[in-house]
Parts: sequence; structure tokens; C-alpha cells
Amino acid sequence: MPELRQNFFTKEWVIIATERARRPEELATHRQAQAVPSFVESCPFCPGNEGKTPPEVMRSPANGDEPWAVRVIPNKFAALSSEVEPTRSLQHLRRRVNGFGFHEVIIDSPDHACCLALLPDAHVARILGVFKQRYNLLSSDHRINHVTIFKNHGADAGASLQHPHSQLIATPVIPSQVRHRLHEALRHYDDAGECMFCHMVESEVADQTRIVLKSELFVAMEVFASATPFATHIFPLRHMASFGEITAAEIADLAHVLRTLLAKIYVGLENPDLNFTIRSGPVDNAGARHFHWYVSVIPRLTRVAGFELGSGMFINTVLPEAAADFLRNVSVERAAGATG
Ligand SMILES: [Zn+2]
Ligand SMILES: [Zn+2]
Repeated sequence: MPELRQNFFTKEWVIIATERARRPEELATHRQAQAVPSFVESCPFCPGNEGKTPPEVMRSPANGDEPWAVRVIPNKFAALSSEVEPTRSLQHLRRRVNGFGFHEVIIDSPDHACCLALLPDAHVARILGVFKQRYNLLSSDHRINHVTIFKNHGADAGASLQHPHSQLIATPVIPSQVRHRLHEALRHYDDAGECMFCHMVESEVADQTRIVLKSELFVAMEVFASATPFATHIFPLRHMASFGEITAAEIADLAHVLRTLLAKIYVGLENPDLNFTIRSGPVDNAGARHFHWYVSVIPRLTRVAGFELGSGMFINTVLPEAAADFLRNVSVERAAGATG
């Protein structure tokens, strides 16, 4: 029987269409594995071409004598500019802010062919450490109210350059989707006297059916009211409102969980395009008791159609419990990073 499920914190309804349910493996891309070279002469992100990008704002390791492993540069085609002030104006109902903000590119590795799913855990930890440093540095600018860190993997996920990279956009406003989630989280905290995410994580871990993997400090799970197949969230087990609060030990643990999850998706669904994003409370929410940050991983396996656009309600043809079972059983022992 089809079922409607409500997302516990966005309050969005989704239709889990079990009548046309598809087995998880039916969504595998079946794409031919392409041989991608490790170095491409014309790629601005490949080593030796540093002069083709805007001047870097950070590199890791920081010592300039060593070759870089991760490099951060301003986006050459930035959506927002740090050269203007976020001046606001209101004319009748037309509200505007000058396009102030930061838009940075984090080059994941010097290797053009690398892919987060196949990198060693230690390298993923280095990337996450860079995320944290940029997050905290840009957050300290009083004109910034929200920082979004995300990755587009593959053309269908919005990646325009093949060389693996992540991005960060810092905005002078709090996006309305974030504001809505914060309101719901605060409402629950005020009603129930607890963090709704801590409650949900505890009950999901006890239930087990949607858990993909759990480490000492993090848990990856399929979303109960998942709008799209294989939407997976990774939560810190410790209560933390802001990604900026993550410790070095938690970065190492998250690197392993994130990389293992991405490897399971890579192997099980044959390298689908995907996005992941760090959903953190806005800058000033560090320490807040009502919000809890997490990583959202969304494989791009289906397309948004008219009903979704018209209603905001999604139809998901894969049971989240079946997706979790499928991913639990994908072995990534032989994926390169597992040994790293
Ligand atoms: Zn490259
Ligand atoms: Zn919490």
C-alpha cells in the first residue's frame, strides 16, 4: 500500500509509492566506467596550473614548500562578491540586498581522477579540516549570517568542472529553508524540552531499520520520509548545533563514515551523480540547544517532475528501509580508500 510520510523537522509530506516500488539495484546507473587521467594539461585545478586560478586563500598543508594536498581559491565565476557591502533596500514590497558574500572552491586533491569515495580516510579528514577552518573564518565576519558547504559530483548534480572540488557560499541572509528548519527545531525544543534531532537519532539507532552504518561518534541513516531514493543523513552523536564546533577526533571519525557511505553509493549504484551538503545552524547558533548539524547526501537518481514543482510534495519509489538494507550489504572492502 502506498504511504504518506511526514519529515519530522521540515514537516514536508512525501509519497512512498510502494505500488510502483523499485528494487534499489534497479536505480544503478549502469554507466561505463570511464578512464579519467590523473592530470589534464588544460585543467585549471591540476598542479602546475595554479596561475590559471584566482590567488589561493588557503592550502593544506600550510607550508608552501610542500606540494598542496587541498587548495582553496575564490570562485572565478562567483555568485556573490566580497567587494560590495550588504546594503539593504525596500521599495514597496521589493526587498533587495547588494550581492555581498563569499564563494570559494575547495580543490579536493591534486589528482584529477580522484573521487572522495576512493580517497584514503586521512585525506577526506584533511578536506573536512579545511571546511572547518573556512567555515569558522568566514563565520567570524559580522556581515555573514549563513555558510553553506556543498559538493556537486557529476554533471547532473551541477558540476561544471571534472576535477573534484567542493564549494562554499557565505551569504548575508539566512536562507528561508534554513530559517524554517530552525523555527521547527525551536518549536520542538520549547514544546518537548529536548533537541528533536538527538531524540530522532536515539530512536533510529534503537530501531535499526534505516541505519546504514554507525561509528563511535557518527551515524549514517536513510531518511524516514525521504523525498528521493537513497537520501542519507550523517549525524554527530554528540549534540552540536554548528559544524564549526567539530573536534579533531570527530573530523577523523566523520571522514571514515562519509567516505565509507560514498564508497557504498559508488559501488552499489555505480558512481551516480550526487550532491552532499553540510546542514549547519547559522553562524550565531553555535552552542544552541535546539539545533543539530548534519551532512545530507543526495544521489541524483531521479528527476523532479510537474507534481513535485506544483506541490512541493515528492514521490519516492524506493522504500528508505530497502535502501538502507541495500547499502548495508554493499561491500567496500576492495574500494581503494578502505585501505588508506
Ligand atoms: Zn584537473
Ligand atoms: Zn541534538
